Amino acid sequence: MPQDRHDLIVRHATLPDGRRGTDVLVQGGRIAALGPALVAPAGTPELDAAGWLLAPPFVDAHFHMDATLSVGLPRLNRSGTLLEGIALWGELKPQLTQDALVERALQYCDWAVARGLLAIRSHVDVCDDRLLAVEALLHVREKVMPYLDLQLVAFPQDGLLRSPTALVNLKRALDLGVDVVGGIPHFERTMVDGAESVRILCELAAERGLRVDMHCDESDDPLSRHVETLAFHTQRLGLHGRVTGSHLTSMHSMDNYYVSKLLPLMAEAQLHAIANPLINITLQGRHDTYPKRRGMTRVPELLAAGINVGFGHDCVMDPWYSLGSGDMLEVAAMGLHVAQMTSQEGMRACFDAVTVNSARILGLDDHGLAVGKAGDFVLLQARDPIEAIRLRATRLAVVRRGRVVAQTPPATARLDLPGRPAAVDWTLQR
Ligand SMILES: [Zn+2]
Repeated sequence: MPQDRHDLIVRHATLPDGRRGTDVLVQGGRIAALGPALVAPAGTPELDAAGWLLAPPFVDAHFHMDATLSVGLPRLNRSGTLLEGIALWGELKPQLTQDALVERALQYCDWAVARGLLAIRSHVDVCDDRLLAVEALLHVREKVMPYLDLQLVAFPQDGLLRSPTALVNLKRALDLGVDVVGGIPHFERTMVDGAESVRILCELAAERGLRVDMHCDESDDPLSRHVETLAFHTQRLGLHGRVTGSHLTSMHSMDNYYVSKLLPLMAEAQLHAIANPLINITLQGRHDTYPKRRGMTRVPELLAAGINVGFGHDCVMDPWYSLGSGDMLEVAAMGLHVAQMTSQEGMRACFDAVTVNSARILGLDDHGLAVGKAGDFVLLQARDPIEAIRLRATRLAVVRRGRVVAQTPPATARLDLPGRPAAVDWTLQR
């Protein structure tokens, strides 16, 4: 009988929790057993992990796939600010075509899979009466489904109340099948409008049984407090555990007393938080001279308050950020540095922020290394999660539902040095 294409036995893996010499048996695309020296049915394809780290796939909780890989179109961001990025995107929007959007998004998904990134929550701008980007990304979501979970957020980039057709378009996008309700309260014209947009959007999500993920307080203004309103409406509407505040950079600049009151409110509402370290360390603090604020939300304090925190990539080669490669270990490394999470527990938490924590934000019940979960993994050329971050470890193999979908040769170098006895092959990632 031909073997199921979704069967696989992984041998001799090290798991993120430190278990060594572990085998993982995948049958029909799901983890059927996990333990030492498993017996697999004859003919099951085998992947020898050789002691390297087998982790659940990376999850990017915050991305903009409609803008990705468009850097330089129609011009570069000269000031490096969020606001010039938004203006630039506004210039590009009328020139977008569906084919180009789809092509760039699919190319990015290829990069993502090669990097072991198998789930992405992407915001999609609904402030375009043609809904070109929405239709393009719905098509991409369908197309990549066999190998990547793409979750879409209806995002009113130009402001829900500020842009006359935003609310209508946002509802149209949800009708078409966009998964999550987005928002951008700090971009509305007044604080009052911002708060009103949060109320409208949370009520819309409650009516439709959807999750919420808002760009919230993405500024250095310590008085930008929309996250408080977001926590309030989450509680009022019983949306506990389904609402996420993205960015939350104003928290960096807030008064400590106020934050000591805010964190328990957020925890009570079971809000999730997403920091976007690469982007916020570059976009924020642009109006400062010195000292210059880091502009990332208070990650260790959020975690200590019991709030689930994920890290997002946010941008790759777009109007806001001209770098990036879909590498969530780079995101984790930047988050670790900016938040000074240098303890062993802190570094480990940064690995969780790009894997299990972000999977919780997306509501991916299938994610994780346990019997019954999806047979999705990334095999990293590292011995533990901290080493993976330190080395931006090579993704030796990426597995989706029991199928190896990407492989990268191990990083090695051949050294031939004067005064040494012989040339040696040196494994770089040790
Ligand atoms: Zn964003």
